[in-house]
Amino acid sequence: MTINIILLGPPGAGKGTQARKLVEERGMVQLSTGDMLRAAKDSGTEMGNKVAEVMARGELVTDEIVIGLIREKLAEGGKGFIFDGFPRTLGQADALGELLNETGQVLDAVIEMRVDDEALVRRITGRFTCGNCGEVYHDETKPTAKPGVCDVCGSTDLKRRADDNEESLRTRLLEYYKKTSPLIGYYYAKGNLTPVNGLAEIDEVSRQIAEALG
Ligand code: AMP
Repeated sequence: MTINIILLGPPGAGKGTQARKLVEERGMVQLSTGDMLRAAKDSGTEMGNKVAEVMARGELVTDEIVIGLIREKLAEGGKGFIFDGFPRTLGQADALGELLNETGQVLDAVIEMRVDDEALVRRITGRFTCGNCGEVYHDETKPTAKPGVCDVCGSTDLKRRADDNEESLRTRLLEYYKKTSPLIGYYYAKGNLTPVNGLAEIDEVSRQIAEALG
């Protein structure tokens, strides 16, 4: 059975971590607009250069750009999509509904990952990831076994995001509350919102998500 889901929640809620698990366990396709934008920035495309500063400040890039990215990926098809970090505005949510409609697909569930703001700040300011395999670490709660080396793939390419600092995080949180949190009401009204406790252990969050997906 193919299912399409949205992981909705503030920065640091654990959307990326849960998306990676769903990819591993269910073979679903993770569509992270943040990852796509960072890849465009790293490869120096015109669009990547255009959005780099906006992203570093923690502001949202335009709906037009991210909807374009998602449109391309949906056309490629796959074994169910996990929308991670998209949609982030009501305009994007409407556009996603239309895109799914056009391609004869449905949205099965919207998982709202609930966490409190203090936990977010702690999670994000200690966060680093492996540039090779994408594993996510944290200075205090999940350091690598050997300093500077990824536990999973052995790469030494460990990096911190340019926007994982307190100032950008404050902007990202404001953007979330102003523009993205209305989506909670939007999807609740459409009848497909399921909240999970994003503060629980990673495996417990996965269990709650699996339960929601049935
Ligand atoms: P993320 O990796 O999801 O935290 O996204 C990192 C940054 O990319 C955000 O702070 C925004 O600047 C930009 N971004 C990612 N997804 C979107 C989106 N759906 N709409 C607008 N901006 C986005």
